[in-house]
Amino acid sequence: MIEVQSLSVAYEGILAVENVSLSIPAGCSAALIGPNGCGKSTLLKAVAHQIRPSQGTVSLDGKDSTRWSSRQIAQLLAYLPQQFSAPPDYTVRELVEFGRTPFLPFGRRLQKRDRQIVDWAIREMNLDGFQERPAVSLSGGERQRVWIAMRLAQQPKILLLDEPTTYLDIAAQFETLRLVRKLNRETGLTVLMVLHDLNQAARFSDLIFVMSGGRLLGEGSVRDMMTASLIQRAFGIGGVVADDPVTGTPMFIPE
Ligand code: ADP
Ligand code: MG
Repeated sequence: MIEVQSLSVAYEGILAVENVSLSIPAGCSAALIGPNGCGKSTLLKAVAHQIRPSQGTVSLDGKDSTRWSSRQIAQLLAYLPQQFSAPPDYTVRELVEFGRTPFLPFGRRLQKRDRQIVDWAIREMNLDGFQERPAVSLSGGERQRVWIAMRLAQQPKILLLDEPTTYLDIAAQFETLRLVRKLNRETGLTVLMVLHDLNQAARFSDLIFVMSGGRLLGEGSVRDMMTASLIQRAFGIGGVVADDPVTGTPMFIPE
């Protein structure tokens, strides 16, 4: 579903992503981890078509993404950047409705089908009781669910999330990740998300990509990537890997 080949991205001549190749099958939930500044957001933006690579290609659904129109991209892929803020004076429902914009002929209002999709996105993100609330009045966790619902209103096949849990309390972090995982499992949505919490990455994904210094250091199953030596190489911190007592997935405990 997502194929990245020999991708490099430079800012003013300095490489932020260097010769990265990766592939994410349809229906997979993948986590991208790595230290601050290693190029995770840059890679995600390149996949989302937000920045132009200096080298390499991104194909989505088997087609070189430079051949997609921006409308086609919006129908296939939804991207939530690391820092996202919306105009404050809209209600939750109005914001989610904005997600339908790429599909409306110019100047057309939402049709019945669009409203049904908005209802679905609101339900999936547990926002039924919040529809008429102004977005400014929401907690961080609720707001993050609104941004994701906005993206779901595009009915994408691919969802890219850049640090969706940063600034959320532990309960809101898990609620967000659980809702995304449920969608991934139930609808086959392909997910690629940048996460800082390695143990959450291990719990909520099938595949892990480890980046360091603009390069891909490793890719593979959660079991294969959650090793003390790889984590040491990527983050420079020692520790041990044990089984998470709740889920049995690998868990990293720093020394
Ligand atoms: P991460 O998301 O892993 O923290 P980023 O992809 O945001 O890393 O950044 C990778 C590198 O590219 C960093 O060194 C950062 O300073 C640099 N960088 C990111 N965005 C820009 C930009 N718009 N202009 C110049 N340099 C940038
Ligand atoms: Mg980032």
